[in-house]
Amino acid sequence: MSRAFVALGSNLHDPQNQLRQAFDALAQLPDTTLVAHSSLYRSPPMAGMDQPEYLNAVAALDTALAPLALLDALQGIENAQGRERELRWGARTLDLDLLIYGDQAFESERLTLPHYGLAERAFVLIPLFELAPDLVLPDGRQLTTLLAQCPPQPLFRL
Ligand code: ATP
Ligand code: MG
Ligand code: MG
Repeated sequence: MSRAFVALGSNLHDPQNQLRQAFDALAQLPDTTLVAHSSLYRSPPMAGMDQPEYLNAVAALDTALAPLALLDALQGIENAQGRERELRWGARTLDLDLLIYGDQAFESERLTLPHYGLAERAFVLIPLFELAPDLVLPDGRQLTTLLAQCPPQPLFRL
């Protein structure tokens, strides 16, 4: 079993319900336990994009699925909840990003671990800190250090 962390984001079609549904779907993945999820947070869209506000959260999983199998499963949940991919960073019903998978550093066309945006995104770091304050990344950086260095961004805990 490996401990994995997944970032959830939604800004379309009742985001709170989208995240609740996604937690249920994560809990039902094969060979996987949903260990915990963070509070929900409201955040403005990245880089001044003209979109509705986001709801974000992070989930902790224990899984026997390999990283790419887990990514397939996450994309299956996104698709089941009506994710459409038109514009990059476009508004979406559900985004599930694999932030961390155990202590694995991995890079391929489909999957980069840890997720490339982790260190710059307060809406990921703060809910992750709720679940794993002592987390150390595969490269040895501590989550607390990333948090201290992250540019301040508006984020409201529900
Ligand atoms: P961002 O990645 O900047 O948060 P996004 O989540 O909107 O943007 P998506 O359209 O969800 O981007 O994903 C684009 C591609 O990123 C996916 O097809 C997937 O193969 C790839 N990808 C690479 N690494 C990861 C990861 N760690 N988690 C999820 N997807 C990843
Ligand atoms: Mg994303
Ligand atoms: Mg994504």
